[in-house]
Amino acid sequence: MSTICAVSTPLAQGGLSVIRISGENAIDIASRIFVPFGDKQVSDMQGHTCAYGKVIDPTKNRQIDDAVLTVFIAPKSYTGENTAEISCHGGVYITKEILRICIAHGAVLAERGEFTKRAFLNGKLSLTQAESVMDLISAQGEYALRSANLTREGRLFKEISASAKELVRILGELAAWVDYPEEDLPDIEEAALSVSLTQILNVLDRILADYDNGMLLRNGVDTVIAGKPNVGKSTLMNMLLGYDRSIVTDIAGTTRDVIEETARLGELTLKLSDTAGIRDTDNKVEQLGVELAKKRLENCMLVMAVFDTSRPLDDEDTELLDYVEQLKKHLIIILNKSDLTSCIDSEQLKKYSPHIITISAKFNEGREEIQKITEEIFSLNNYNPDSTVFANERQKSCAETARKYLKQALDALKMGATLDAVTVTIDYATNALLELTGEKASEAVVNEVFSKFCVGK
Ligand code: GDP
Repeated sequence: MSTICAVSTPLAQGGLSVIRISGENAIDIASRIFVPFGDKQVSDMQGHTCAYGKVIDPTKNRQIDDAVLTVFIAPKSYTGENTAEISCHGGVYITKEILRICIAHGAVLAERGEFTKRAFLNGKLSLTQAESVMDLISAQGEYALRSANLTREGRLFKEISASAKELVRILGELAAWVDYPEEDLPDIEEAALSVSLTQILNVLDRILADYDNGMLLRNGVDTVIAGKPNVGKSTLMNMLLGYDRSIVTDIAGTTRDVIEETARLGELTLKLSDTAGIRDTDNKVEQLGVELAKKRLENCMLVMAVFDTSRPLDDEDTELLDYVEQLKKHLIIILNKSDLTSCIDSEQLKKYSPHIITISAKFNEGREEIQKITEEIFSLNNYNPDSTVFANERQKSCAETARKYLKQALDALKMGATLDAVTVTIDYATNALLELTGEKASEAVVNEVFSKFCVGK
């Protein structure tokens, strides 16, 4: 297998950069481009030790940078292969130069996620553990971090793998029965079989039930702040961004005209966009705006409908509420400008949503209330961050497939079907679980998983 190299830190100016080399020739390549100060030799370095020295370009007889080289000897490394990591000064040119000379000395540029893929192929990580590495990197809050760490420690793998092993055991028993009916084998206890299958089904159901919450924590809640001009939408948006504004980031892969800002609200990330009303108009430009607003409302998960409490509701306000109601979206009705005299009776709004709050965005009052209600809506107040969760659609869909076949097996047993019919469905369920853990995943599945990683990981 080739020796790969990549820059593992973001390619931008910073304090340090790390270039990682992994594979059979990693130490050899490092020994040719790195000269330790003093009388140390790279080839003599033990695993998990480092040396301070200079990175050189031997072909041009020139020094590139002072750096620290850390050596890991197979199999005691992240990838399970010989690995060398060069920590150099974080300049883009320096980093690229070091990468270039690694390649000139025989390394090839790593593909996305190739270090972690090798760790998986070398048995250092299960597929679910490997996937959790990306979750760790992208975790934006404590819950998401805890959940990714639990998966990385192998919790999900252990639970699913144990279920798969139990199915394999059952399959073994069934196969003996189906293949050697004339032998004097103990009877298959169908009741006991049902109990075992149901237990596995329960494990899957429990983990699947937390999927939506897990995804919410990872991906954030698409939220539209809707309301007429001047009700205080921008002020509310600023209040929600509040003190976290400095760490607000755009979410990659989303288009700018849809996601305008992201705000942290407790454990949740809200992906906020605001929209100015959906009132019918003859003006063509305004009509385009209305269509866009309607689309955003259709696609979001949560609507915050904002009203100026110092003004009575008018047709445009009720039109918005009716529209959101018809879309069956989670709705928080926000009566803004509580510092002014109110002329809206919140009773008349209860039919649209039980979540009605009065705030003053301008005076920064109501943020906590909005957080509380949002967590309530998405059942986060009952969420246990230490529960096992599936991290992505791939894992979920494998679990759903397994669940479908387990149910079929249970139904077949109940209806008194032959044992070979039951065996086939259990076999399908087992395969789905083994694909989930990666113990029996096709190359295409593995490639797909790692293609979502960043280069250098
Ligand atoms: P938008 O058009 O809905 O985005 O509304 P803005 O956020 O631009 O606010 C419109 C006006 O209402 C501005 O002058 C704000 O300062 C004012 N405003 C916003 N929130 C409050 C509030 O809680 N109380 C009062 N009195 N004025 C507010």
